[in-house]
Amino acid sequence: MKYISTRGRSPVCNFEQVLLTGLAPDGGLYVPETLPVFTQQEISSWSGLPYDQLAFKIIKPFVDGEIPDDVLQSILADSYKDFSHPAVAPLRMLGVNEWVLELYCGPTLAFKDFALQLLGRLLDYVLIRDNKKVAVLGATSGDTGSAALEGCRHCKNIDLFILHPYQRVSEVQRRQMTTVPGDNIHNIAVRGNFDDCQRIVKSAFGDQSFLPEDRQLVAVNSINWARIMAQIVYYFYAALNLGGPLRSVSFSVPTGNFGDIYAGYLARCMGLPVKQLIIATNGNDILHRLISNNEYSLGELQPTLSPSMDIMVSSNFERYLFDLFDRNADAVTAFVTGLGKQPLHLDIDRWHKARELFSSLGVDDATTCSVIADIHKRTGFLIDPHTAVGVEAARVCNQDKSVPMITLATAHPVKFADAVTRAGLESPALPAHLQDLFEREERYEVLDNSVDEVTRFLRSKL
Ligand SMILES: *Cc1c(COP(=O)(O)O)cnc(C)c1O
Repeated sequence: MKYISTRGRSPVCNFEQVLLTGLAPDGGLYVPETLPVFTQQEISSWSGLPYDQLAFKIIKPFVDGEIPDDVLQSILADSYKDFSHPAVAPLRMLGVNEWVLELYCGPTLAFKDFALQLLGRLLDYVLIRDNKKVAVLGATSGDTGSAALEGCRHCKNIDLFILHPYQRVSEVQRRQMTTVPGDNIHNIAVRGNFDDCQRIVKSAFGDQSFLPEDRQLVAVNSINWARIMAQIVYYFYAALNLGGPLRSVSFSVPTGNFGDIYAGYLARCMGLPVKQLIIATNGNDILHRLISNNEYSLGELQPTLSPSMDIMVSSNFERYLFDLFDRNADAVTAFVTGLGKQPLHLDIDRWHKARELFSSLGVDDATTCSVIADIHKRTGFLIDPHTAVGVEAARVCNQDKSVPMITLATAHPVKFADAVTRAGLESPALPAHLQDLFEREERYEVLDNSVDEVTRFLRSKL
């Protein structure tokens, strides 16, 4: 399997190379040159498989023999063994043909564990095999950081540096990061906002000359292909558990960087009958404006009750555009680099093509709270604000009530107690493995909003 850049001006990579990098050198994102496509018969034969065994079937073609099958199988078994539900990704019914897929049973209580538990183990394996050391560098507005730290903490050949905006993440989120023990773990609170953190990370990736010679930086956000790959699995798993592939299913996906929903798009390209994919956004609704009005323009970043989706530009959308533009890298480059305050438009055929599969909705904070309250009242089930955005979009955008509609529940409500209280409900208790979170010792460094200061800190720790 070869991987190519969406901007067309980077060398072709193999799996190990895309695993050990971030953006392509030309500023694009890596995608597989061709996708594996499974027959309906093949997909049917996987029904009833445990999660990790299904993951093996789907992930194997992407790894393409670079990791031996038995090793890959045991890495996958290990990645999902600590999930708190035996189904790993259980389905729950909210109403008639209305489902949620609970993706928060991993160690840090958000769906990002699905990819990062695996990514950490894949990195560990190839780094030990090749006798290499790397530095993982990432910026987080909350969930990515803790999932990355949990996924990579045991890797002796990785030093982890996670930047979060000082005093701008919730206390649970901060403690989930800063209480992870280990000499290879470095939490950095930057005196700035999330965009400042991202800017610093991007600039460090762009010029890695500050690193010791034998080191390189590896990304853990969803520009890393391996994260997307891991997320394709639960689309197949949910569909198989609801009678697929003999019948179609639809998904509503709370969206920030477009990573999670892009995995759903790939599942469909790989043969899974998916009828509708719903892009559920909060007030940061650049993708909703494109799908509903054919207007693609930068808005103002607004803080919402679903902070993990407070993103101005969805980086993985470029991967979808690459297909929508018939893999014409120059056209993609022109479109994405033209983004500004003035709206860009897709040509009308392309826009229609996107709308055949994708629908969208932007959901405000007041509606988010009322959905949390309403679902709790009618079913007794407590959902988090990101999931609530998805549930609302699922209801509003559903085009065919005879098709099962599955909303991805992306986080446990205990992570977002604020929204739960605002919905008039009591915030839930921390799960057993986090019970003493507020007593654990915290470790983090507060640094100025400066590339130099951060890279100097990295250098001093490597
Ligand atoms: C990261 C995150 C999202 C957004 O996922 P993307 O892949 O960036 O679209 C949604 N909900 C929660 C809880 C998250 O942590």
